[in-house]
Formats: sequence, structure tokens, C-alpha cells
Amino acid sequence: VAELLSVAEARTIVLEHTQPLPAESTPLTPAVLGQVLAEDITSDLDMPPYDKAMMDGYALRSADVAGGQARLEVIEEVMAGMVPARVVEPGQATRIMTGAPIPHGADAVVQIEHTHLHSARSLGIDTRPVRSGHNVLARGQEMKRGDTVLSAGARLRPQEFGILATVGRTTAKVYPAPRVAILSTGDEIVEADQTPGPGQIRNGNGPMLMAQTQRAAAQPRYLGNARDTRDSLRTLIASGLEDHVLVLSGGVSAGKLDLVPSVLEELGVKAHFHKVAMKPGKPILFGTLTTGNRQPATLVFGLPGNPVSSYVCFELFVRPALRRLRGVIDVGPRFVEAALAEDYSYRSDRPTYHPAWLETADLGRRARPVPWFGSPDLRGLARANAFVVLQPSQEPYRAGQICSVMCVEESD
Ligand code: AMP
Ligand code: MG
Repeated sequence: VAELLSVAEARTIVLEHTQPLPAESTPLTPAVLGQVLAEDITSDLDMPPYDKAMMDGYALRSADVAGGQARLEVIEEVMAGMVPARVVEPGQATRIMTGAPIPHGADAVVQIEHTHLHSARSLGIDTRPVRSGHNVLARGQEMKRGDTVLSAGARLRPQEFGILATVGRTTAKVYPAPRVAILSTGDEIVEADQTPGPGQIRNGNGPMLMAQTQRAAAQPRYLGNARDTRDSLRTLIASGLEDHVLVLSGGVSAGKLDLVPSVLEELGVKAHFHKVAMKPGKPILFGTLTTGNRQPATLVFGLPGNPVSSYVCFELFVRPALRRLRGVIDVGPRFVEAALAEDYSYRSDRPTYHPAWLETADLGRRARPVPWFGSPDLRGLARANAFVVLQPSQEPYRAGQICSVMCVEESD
């Protein structure tokens, strides 16, 4: 019997088949917040473009106030947005507002608080010795024309929007948000607005996977629920294969009506793996569809139907793939080490991603497994913010033992 793939090996296979989507020239509206820049950005100007006052006060020659005290003649008043007309000569000063250009001749600004007017044109200064450059932001101090101010791979956070606007950009090459089709399967499934009949349950996975996709900064498209028939699956899967990614739940294990793998095969999807050594979620399928003219290949994830299996497999495999498609370099998931908060009794032959509460206390990280009875138990997940990885080799699990914990980021 061939050894089952480990989670790490399986994720490597997924990422080997995943490349960033072709970048597009994109208007820099807030809708692209969190997306990734696909080009280096250079500045078209010096910032600031002129020596600039950083305080409201008087622009003057520092040599005139080397000792801190002076009596000067006020020659002009310059507001932000104006250009000074007069050169400041020895013994002179110009009233200046924050943001205004420093007049020629002046090399420092004394704050208004350290000055007093004897008359409209006669200024007294009483401060500490003033050095050249005091309260002046020199031209080009933040950036020079031609500087690379942002590099490809940068995530667009609010400060990046500010920088892009500063250098005059209203569009930039950005990796697009992947489109993700979500398809649940099962004859027993009805939607949330229905009352389940005998033998039926409501569709929890559809809305959950839609939300996980949205959280991963991708665009979800709900295809509905396929019945466990080849016809129903074929139609809906074919539609889902039009998107960058197709995520299915259910129908991938060994039941008589688990038809997803064979319908995928019929539609030309090449399966790269179909089982991973993990719990929950062992029968996860990953495949790709390469169609002649269409690049890149569609990624297909067949997640097991049990809700926690679907959730964990999405976080372990789909989310990193979405990050790569979006041009994110560090695709995660993020694992940290934490001490087990209490003894825990649990047995399995496979590494188990057990819902847990991770807290960062003064003495380090601690992880507490939450009550959970297995892959159908979504309520256990509602009490968790992470998964502690319980390795069979580490059993018995004792308080203080160091475990690997998968963090679940609340946004991408
Ligand atoms: P399957 O992988 O299709 O064998 O489904 C495994 C288990 O998950 C079964 O108990 C299903 O009823 C359940 N299940 C499958 N799909 C969903 C869904 N969309 N929402 C909630 N439970 C589901
Ligand atoms: Mg099923």
C-alpha cells in the first residue's frame, strides 16, 4: 500500500500547479484594498517638491538667530499654496504657514509660539539657538524623482494608496481577485430557507465556503447544490470549470454515489491527489483542467462533505492557492508553536487538526483544544480560533507539551 501524502506534500503539489493570475491595469479604488501590486512604482517628482515649512511661524536666516534672540523686519506673508515673492535678507523674516514654500534666503522656521510682534512689521524672537534646516522639510527628503517607492509584490494597504496618489497614479498593474465557483453536492441537501424533509439536512457548507472565499479576498460564485447524479454534477461542474477555481463539497469519498471524481475525470480534469494523511478531511481531491487556449489552468478542489473537513481543507489547501493566484508571496497557512494548556486525551492514527483556542499570554502562546466530537461538529469550530495539530507520535498529550498550531487569519 502506497503511503498517504502528508499535508505538506499535498500543499506542495497544489502550489506547483498554481501561478499568479495575469496582472491587469486596475483603477486604484478602495475595491482593490488588500490586492497585490504587480509592478514597481517610481516617483514622477521630488517629495516635497520644494523646501517646505513644517510649522506655522517665521522663515528667517538661522545666522540671524544663532543666539536665540533677535529683532527682525517682517517683509511678507506666505500661505500654503502660495509662492513667496521676496528674498529674505539679513535682518528680515517672512510670516509662513505649514506647507508653504520656504522663501529664498531663509533656511529655518521659528515657531509662532517663540515670537512676538512689537508692531505690524517688527518681530521679536526669543528661543533657543536656531540651526539651519530647523522646521524645514528639504525638497526630496521623502522621495526623489525616479525613486522606486513601491515594489511589485506589495500589498495595497491604505498607506500604499496614499503613496500611489502622491506619485500621480490612478491605475496600476494589480493581480486580480480569483473567481471561485462553489458547488455543494448531495441528494440529502436542501437550502437554508427550506424545511428539511425526512432524511434531509440543510446546506451549511455552501454559505460557509462562500464566506471563506470572501475572507480570502477572492470572488465567490455560488452554483447551488448538485444532486448525486452524473447529469446534475456534469452540468454544474462544467459551469464551475469556467472560473479560476472550483470548490466542491461532498461526493468525493468511497460511497456508492460519490460520483464527483469520475465526473471530473469525464470533463477532462486531471487528478493530482485524492487522499491526504490528515483528520478531518482525508478524502480530499485536487485536480486541474488545462484547456488549450485558456490560461491558467482551472484548479479543482473536491472537499469532503462533513463541514469541519470542508473548512479545514479550505484553510490548508484552497486558501494558500488563492493567495498565490493573487500574487501574495507568503501563502501560509501560518503555523506557530504553542504549549498545550491542559492534558488532553485523544487517539488517532493520523495527524489531527483539532479545533482549539490559541491565546498569546505573557509567558508565551497557549493552545486549548475545545470540546469537539469530530468532522460533523461545526459548533466546536464556533468556539475555536485555530487548530492544534495533534501528532500520533506525540501522544499522550500533556499540559505544557509544545504543539504546532495552525492560525486562521480573519482577513487576507
Ligand atoms: P459526503 O462527503 O458527500 O459523503 O458527505 C459527508 C457528510 O457530510 C454527510 O453526512 C453529508 O450529509 C454531510 N454533508 C455533505 N454536504 C453537506 C453540506 N453542504 N452541508 C452540510 N453537511 C453536508
Ligand atoms: Mg454526499
